[in-house]
Amino acid sequence: MILLLFLAWQAGRRAGLPGALAETVFVLTLFACVALHEIGHSIVARVSSVAVEGIVLYPFGGVAILSGPPPAGATEARIAVAGPIVNLGLAGVLFLALGSHVGESFLPGARLANLPESLFWANLILGLFNLVPALPLDGGRALRGFLAATMGHVKATRITGSIGQVLGIVLLVWGLAYNPWLGIIGLIVLLGATGELQRIQPMLIMQQQRVGDLVNRRIEIVSPQTSLEALQSFSHQHPGTDFVVGTADEVVGYLPAAEVWRASTDASDLRPSASALMRRLARPILLTAPLSEALEQMKEDGVEAAAVLDDSGDMAGILTVARIERSLALLKAITDRRSRPSTSPSRSPQE
Ligand SMILES: [Zn+2]
Repeated sequence: MILLLFLAWQAGRRAGLPGALAETVFVLTLFACVALHEIGHSIVARVSSVAVEGIVLYPFGGVAILSGPPPAGATEARIAVAGPIVNLGLAGVLFLALGSHVGESFLPGARLANLPESLFWANLILGLFNLVPALPLDGGRALRGFLAATMGHVKATRITGSIGQVLGIVLLVWGLAYNPWLGIIGLIVLLGATGELQRIQPMLIMQQQRVGDLVNRRIEIVSPQTSLEALQSFSHQHPGTDFVVGTADEVVGYLPAAEVWRASTDASDLRPSASALMRRLARPILLTAPLSEALEQMKEDGVEAAAVLDDSGDMAGILTVARIERSLALLKAITDRRSRPSTSPSRSPQE
């Protein structure tokens, strides 16, 4: 409302009351076009089974708030291009309706008679600018989604986010020199791109960290026939030590200490052995493998733990998904405290 009043006041100073009125109508119609842009994102999101929480219009553009994990790959690309396509479609319709009038002036002054012409140019600029392949613009999201298929989400974000930072700085400097509105848009692009780059920080660290950084070495190898009583008594003497079931040469399962305690408080009279209590393990992972690779492998195998081997193929310890997630949550808490992003990670804005 403040921006609307300010723009109307500025137009009024130039062209009197009719100018102020024309500017008001133009800005409101422009906001309607931005809303249609966001509805474009929302419709494609829903078609792609991504729920939409709502649309928020800001002074400098709108956001469709998607719920659930942020869409990736082809889905992200599809949702991203839908917005600019709406604006280009509107520009196309206005172009056909206007015929030869369109080329006469670029963003003509504030007169109601010029409204369709102004809207044609505004939609054309909205559509084309948003297609610039730089995060957080739609074109950047589309390019990220496309690149993610070959190089993964993290690297694709690094590339498109860096383009966004450069674009933001260029617009900001240019804007400071020639046009304050452009400067504000540059600042928004720069902040948005930086936010996107910060969001991948935990994943980047996971790629740099090795399995050896997080492996649990406090393990005891027990045979499958070991009784619950024996496991319990060992746990009592060595608290915090988890069990690996098998032999030094071949492990068959994993048994967290907590599971031993849970089983011992179980009211049923069954006294199972280690083999009945153990959980499945993923394919063994090397100490030197990247953490991200280990997590992927465990998710592929659909298990929560993997045996970790050292260079000579000996058992070095156990890596669990829970341990990685705890470490990531800790890391996220630290980066959040440093950056305080404006949106929570479960809500992904589609600008
Ligand atoms: Zn958009």
